[in-house]
Amino acid sequence: MPSDLVIVYHRQPYEEVEVDGKIEYRENKSPNGIVPTLKSFFGRVDKGAWIAWKQADDPSNPDFEQVIEIEDQYGDYTVSRLPLTAEQVTSFYHVSSKEAFWPILHGFKERYNYDPVDWPTFREVNWAFAEAAAAEAAEGAVVWVHDYNLWLVPGYLRTLRPDLKISFFHHTPFPNADIFNVLPWRKEILESLLACDVVGFHIPRYVNNFVSAARSLLDVETLKREKVSPEMSAETSALSEQSVVTELGYEGRKIRLQASPVGVDTSYIEEVVARDETAEKVARIKEELGDAKLLLSVGRTDYTKGGIEQLESFERLLETRPDLRGKVRLMHVSVAANANMTAYAEIQEQLESLAGKINGRYGTFEWQPIALISRPIPFETLVAYYRAADVAWLTPLADGMNLVCKEFCAARDDDDGVLVLSEFAGAAVELAAAVPTNPFSHKSMDGAIQFALDLPVEERRGRMKANRAMVAKQDIRFWAEDQMRAFGDTVIAVDFAAE
Ligand code: UDP
Repeated sequence: MPSDLVIVYHRQPYEEVEVDGKIEYRENKSPNGIVPTLKSFFGRVDKGAWIAWKQADDPSNPDFEQVIEIEDQYGDYTVSRLPLTAEQVTSFYHVSSKEAFWPILHGFKERYNYDPVDWPTFREVNWAFAEAAAAEAAEGAVVWVHDYNLWLVPGYLRTLRPDLKISFFHHTPFPNADIFNVLPWRKEILESLLACDVVGFHIPRYVNNFVSAARSLLDVETLKREKVSPEMSAETSALSEQSVVTELGYEGRKIRLQASPVGVDTSYIEEVVARDETAEKVARIKEELGDAKLLLSVGRTDYTKGGIEQLESFERLLETRPDLRGKVRLMHVSVAANANMTAYAEIQEQLESLAGKINGRYGTFEWQPIALISRPIPFETLVAYYRAADVAWLTPLADGMNLVCKEFCAARDDDDGVLVLSEFAGAAVELAAAVPTNPFSHKSMDGAIQFALDLPVEERRGRMKANRAMVAKQDIRFWAEDQMRAFGDTVIAVDFAAE
């Protein structure tokens, strides 16, 4: 049976576990993250489909079933697994996407690496995704494509199936023409995105940047521009915009542009907070801390996350404020997502060397200023650290959204804890009550962390209450509903309205 909604996402929507020689498809261990929200859309349609890739030694004869049927709490859906060779995965995912697109998307022109990109393979893989989506989609269905590694899918899909409604969501920042146009494939990518009915981004800045890139190369027309709501334009953020383009015209078609910030599952986080075992964990962490304050930093090991700049600021803090020695501890969680890539291995080495230097210089037998954690912490344990932290210190140089800051606020139903947030995180346009910091300025970085440590309790509470209200309002359901509205006059929107 053809599907009314086809989600095209590079990862499979479950964990594959082998039990007694048989494959079982299990829910991801932690329900935190976007995949459960995406799957929840299947409950709104008669039939859904999900397209992802799976590694195969011989793609023409893979040792797994390519299309499987899943029936779970989310509904009935098909999962199509595109067989890709290890070389195709490396080329399309680790090289083209991470070495060429990732730095450009985040504005790091100097890190852009063109040489190893194999564009024909990128096209080929995107074409395979488009073909698989076209094979599953019912007449007039919605196909929802996710993220930049599938940039060419909308264009191919429009050629294969002009009847479809195509929506694309970017989970990263989008740069303006000055930076985007470093990519030699810029026109091909933009033309593909303009084949969509809806193109979504987290915040208005990324939308306007996309328009800037499109306008630089193609004859697009701005059909509609709207004022940005106060909830999405905090003055403290470097990423705020006052107005945003919401409709473009191109080759006789209208393309809706959407700024829709991904939020967190506040109910799930509150449920974890309320567990006895979380309270026990928090008590243990606090006991271990004694009268020292906990600064918490959580992110991936990636140059965009500004880990080095943060450790340098922490070193200056201990240098200039001897009174804080023995009184603060920084837990710096930096988890490698792509440990085998040179750029990330270098950052890891730098973090280790800097943390070692600071611990050696200021630490004692009883007190080590930095706990550098390189292994991932299970989400439910992370929530205990969110509860125990005095300050969440999140200072990315560029970050599409940053969910950690929202999770921290959602976990603080005691209305305490200070959020210090980079002006360059997408979430900063929403979280006007965070203590803003500019990671490109020593003065701003050093000033913000001291300000946070010295904040009196009433102001801490006032800020946390305001941030929590925003995180609760623009949570993951808010995002899901926004997506629904963007799909427009389709079977899904009708079902949604009927609920
Ligand atoms: N996370 C986790 N354990 C860790 C580090 C991170 O579960 O040790 C989770 C964190 O809770 C958050 C996600 O990883 O949900 C990171 O999302 P974010 O948007 O902050 O950054 P991204 O990695 O997507 O750039």
